Amino acid sequence: MKPAAFDYHRPAGTAEAVRLLSDLGDDAKVIAGGQSLLPIMNMRLAEPAHLVDVTGIAELRQTTVDASGARYGATTTHMRFEYQLVPDVTGGLLSRMAAGIGYQAIRNRGTVGGSLAHSDPSAEWPTVMAALDAAVHVLSVRGMRRVPVRDLLLGFFSTALEPDELIVDVEVGRLPASTRWGVCKTARKPGEFAESLAVALMEHDATPRIRQPRLWLGAAADTPVRLAGTERLVEGHDVDAVTADDLVVPIAADLGADPGAGDPAARYVLHLHAVTVHRALRAVHEEVSDE
Ligand SMILES: Cc1cc2nc3c(=O)[nH]c(=O)nc-3n(C[C@H](O)[C@H](O)[C@H](O)COP(=O)(O)OP(=O)(O)OC[C@H]3O[C@@H](n4cnc5c(N)ncnc54)[C@H](O)[C@@H]3O)c2cc1C
Repeated sequence: MKPAAFDYHRPAGTAEAVRLLSDLGDDAKVIAGGQSLLPIMNMRLAEPAHLVDVTGIAELRQTTVDASGARYGATTTHMRFEYQLVPDVTGGLLSRMAAGIGYQAIRNRGTVGGSLAHSDPSAEWPTVMAALDAAVHVLSVRGMRRVPVRDLLLGFFSTALEPDELIVDVEVGRLPASTRWGVCKTARKPGEFAESLAVALMEHDATPRIRQPRLWLGAAADTPVRLAGTERLVEGHDVDAVTADDLVVPIAADLGADPGAGDPAARYVLHLHAVTVHRALRAVHEEVSDE
């Protein structure tokens, strides 16, 4: 199918973009890479009368870096993170996450701001940016505001953005050298959205001990979930002493699910999450032991 007719606008700057969004109201949508919006429009699930294309705005492509971290322009593509064409202040975590998104053609056009604004709980950026406690800067005719990603993501395809607001950049704090990361994406085949997506952060330990873990799970609920109970369970244990099976019950508790559910499909999903989180935990220590 093809999308319904729309008027196309290509502002040269952010002030012009937010003025257009304000004037056009609910009839307008921002378009960046178009990798989520265009399929939806092709299926006629969205029929905006106006598209405001922000990819011509130089400011939205810029990255600024200082000692505390980086601000990545909203239209920075997944590909630029993947190939570290922008500085990675997380010691490779952003690059690794970007490389797992869809196919190369998707990564060439899709943007970090578009992914966060779309708020698909199976997508890479919402989970890793929540885990990193990143924040977006959001502009409208009323001014700029800073919104932590954890507050931005309200649910499945739902965010705290007003219809006339534009994500300008994503602020990511520099990961201390003492912090290590591991990730795991479980998908049916390469290029597909995650069935389960885990990000593990922890403090460096020369031993296989799990120290101060921060565990985040995507593709499990309407927004990324912090696995606080699971963190407490694994804290201080040797990674080799923890099995995926050990994680099923605490992950179920963190998700508010019943680990003893009679439904085999529900049990399978919990086990999948447990295996994915377990692999992310192990990945942290595999990285450390490679040094
Ligand atoms: C076949 C396929 C496979 C994919 N696989 C994956 C995958 O494995 N993992 C993954 O994470 N993603 C995947 N994606 C999605 C892809 O990453 C998209 O690029 C991304 O979700 C949206 O970014 P975009 O720049 O294309 O946004 P667009 O499609 O242009 O816009 C998406 C939404 O965000 C809004 N928006 C865009 N930019 C801004 C802004 N700066 N401020 C405010 N609102 C804005 C738009 O109005 C729209 O509502 C896949 C997509 C396809 C088509």
